Amino acid sequence: MIPLADRYGRRFPYLRLSITPVCNFRCTYCLPHGYHAETGVAGPLSLEEIARLLCGFAELGMHKLRITGGEPSVRHDLTDVLRTAAATPGVTSLAMTTNGTLLSRRLGEWMDAGLNAINVSVDSLDRAAFARITGHDRLDDILHGVEMALAAGLPAVKLNAVLLRGVNDQELPRWLDYLRDHAVGVRFIELMQTGDNLAFFRDHHVHAETLEDEICEQGWQALPRAADAGPAREYRHPGYAGRIGIIAPYSKDFCAGCNRLRVTATGDLRLCLFGEFGIPLRPLLQRDEQLDELVSAIGGQIGRKEQGHYLHLGRTGISPHLASTGG
Ligand code: SAM
Ligand code: SF4
Repeated sequence: MIPLADRYGRRFPYLRLSITPVCNFRCTYCLPHGYHAETGVAGPLSLEEIARLLCGFAELGMHKLRITGGEPSVRHDLTDVLRTAAATPGVTSLAMTTNGTLLSRRLGEWMDAGLNAINVSVDSLDRAAFARITGHDRLDDILHGVEMALAAGLPAVKLNAVLLRGVNDQELPRWLDYLRDHAVGVRFIELMQTGDNLAFFRDHHVHAETLEDEICEQGWQALPRAADAGPAREYRHPGYAGRIGIIAPYSKDFCAGCNRLRVTATGDLRLCLFGEFGIPLRPLLQRDEQLDELVSAIGGQIGRKEQGHYLHLGRTGISPHLASTGG
């Protein structure tokens, strides 16, 4: 095993793999008109291709894997994907990011397949606001799925909420009520500009630090950063069962702790969510005998990873929206 490291000393034990660009929601900041298939675009990686890809990354020290999309649960073979991922040598954490529409129905099956962490997108705890953001009146069922995950003892349950000015940025009191007795981590994510959402971004972007200041004033305390922590800044409060994480992509040093690589649904390696290029790995996923070639192709690209993104300059890279890259 040769652990991946770049020229800035960062290591990459964490892979985020998109398994489909398709989504059944139409979140205003991501796919406001829903998913539309592009003609001439290859389908997502097959189960066999995924298995080979994961073996390659495992050889390079990957031990944390997140399955994402689009919406991963629209894939009919999701449970098989999870089983394959969990069986990859060295994978100790298998997480998934989902909009939660199938959570209450499929949780048991996913846990049996090896899922041990989940992030569920819950942009608002207000039913009407949730429906306005996602295009679907599904909040109650999704929160029921979250309760089931907690009751079933899933080791890590987190909720993701993208902060949107004028839409959900006044909901802290509601979230605090929720966190008082729910042992979940909510991650407030600052809205990021993408290729497609500039007008929306201008209207609704709000700095995550505004909320961070509010929670600090209310006695929430920053947790020391673990060595392998991602970009979230974590807070806890003795009066609450849950935790708060702040993800502020526009803040200084956001990229200094980057520990992740991404692969799109069609098998392109992306060194950064906002990078200007993808490196097609699919041709190296066709036969088991290609493993060494795959490992050296991934290892050979890591030197091209930039020190930081250029989002603050409005350079969003090649992704029109995060559903296409795997957010
Ligand atoms: N469909 C799944 C879901 O929504 O959880 C997984 C894919 S989604 C692209 C992954 C995460 O990215 C979600 O939490 C979503 O809210 C977030 N996201 C999407 N577009 C974003 C943007 N422009 N800025 C910040 N977060 C975004
Ligand atoms: Fe779909 Fe997730 Fe994008 Fe919402 S954020 S449209 S659920 S991919």
